[in-house]
Amino acid sequence: MTEPFDAVVVGGGFYGAVIARHLSVNRGLRRVLLVEREAALMRRASYTNQARVHNGYHYPRSFTTAYRSRINLPRFVTDWPGAIVRDFTALYAVARRNSKVNARQFERFAAEIGAPFQTARKELQALFSPDLVEAVYEVAEYAFDTRQLAIWAENALRLAGVEVALATEATSIDKGDGVALRLALSGPDGARSVAGARYVFNCTYAGLNRLFGQAGGTQARLKHELTEMALVEPDSRLKGLGITLMDGPFFSLMPFPARQLHTLSHVRYTPHRALADDPSVDLRALLQSPGPATRVDRMLRDAARYVPALASARADSSLFEIKTVLEKNEGDDGRPILFEKLDRLPGAYAVLGGKIDNVYDILERLDAEAIH
Ligand SMILES: Cc1cc2nc3c(=O)[nH]c(=O)nc-3n(C[C@H](O)[C@H](O)[C@H](O)COP(=O)(O)OP(=O)(O)OC[C@H]3O[C@@H](n4cnc5c(N)ncnc54)[C@H](O)[C@@H]3O)c2cc1C
Repeated sequence: MTEPFDAVVVGGGFYGAVIARHLSVNRGLRRVLLVEREAALMRRASYTNQARVHNGYHYPRSFTTAYRSRINLPRFVTDWPGAIVRDFTALYAVARRNSKVNARQFERFAAEIGAPFQTARKELQALFSPDLVEAVYEVAEYAFDTRQLAIWAENALRLAGVEVALATEATSIDKGDGVALRLALSGPDGARSVAGARYVFNCTYAGLNRLFGQAGGTQARLKHELTEMALVEPDSRLKGLGITLMDGPFFSLMPFPARQLHTLSHVRYTPHRALADDPSVDLRALLQSPGPATRVDRMLRDAARYVPALASARADSSLFEIKTVLEKNEGDDGRPILFEKLDRLPGAYAVLGGKIDNVYDILERLDAEAIH
């Protein structure tokens, strides 16, 4: 075993990158290692997501998540200006039937969280079927460019002096002899090695409960879903728009700046299947070629009932990903963070961000820990 690290962060997504940098730059840890299984940083959920910087509107059933989004969005926009995309109009619409909110409730909720909205201009309202849609609002919400976040991560980690091991998989985290924790690693050519560390941050998202072995997993129960977001190219009428139809079995269409396309997700068709948090199921294998059959036709067909111009959108391809959320939020769709200290592995932490801008809630929890 080489000289132990002060901290090892497992998982080079957005959360792992931000935490590794923070430990080095703001918490003064001298030797920090970030271990990522893929050949580059931010290839998994931090790339494959709908790229929405949430401003609260999406969460009428979880006041806390909506409120935290309102606090975190301005900070995120200030800290990652190069990744923020504002050159589109964000619309939220309310369906007449099957919606969990009506227009009056949506307005009251947006006012309560202090999120600006106005009735959409006539030409924008005209894009929606008046029979199926009760109200359309223009709101203040942005997208992020996941490529730019990855470029930021590479530079920020280099400048912070964090060691980055790519194409390297952590296979277990145990109590060490002499050092607090011991990680088993499998490198690019399958070469096995062991690293010691005083602290380990498990930021592996869907993989969170696959590393702690005998020490068990997180106390909070996780839920995984195999998801599909279609990448589509809408015609000129919809190109400059993001559209979210609230809150039920509907769709949302968001610019996806990393590919200059739009993502289309649909509450009914995006989740292909629910997956138990069972370490014996190989979640990655579900994403490997040929992968699941696309449901883009069904997404487009249903979405076009509400926004007829979507019928002429070109389907490009699809992004498949395992989505991981806390089981307790199944009912309210809230996205709180998970920041858990493993009782049976002192020095080990499990981290789940829920959504990108929650990073501030994680850093707040981290800074309350006596780590030095
Ligand atoms: C379909 C979908 C839509 C979403 N839409 C939005 C949205 O619009 N806005 C928003 O804010 N959030 C959204 N999210 C949530 C957001 O993507 C996540 O909260 C965020 O990306 C999580 O970051 P992470 O670093 O924890 O995970 P990841 O980016 O997945 O990083 C985890 C990393 O760990 C690596 N890893 C796993 N196991 C190991 C191991 N054993 N050893 C080494 N490395 C390992 C993986 O390769 C991966 O790179 C969405 C998520 C999904 C799936």
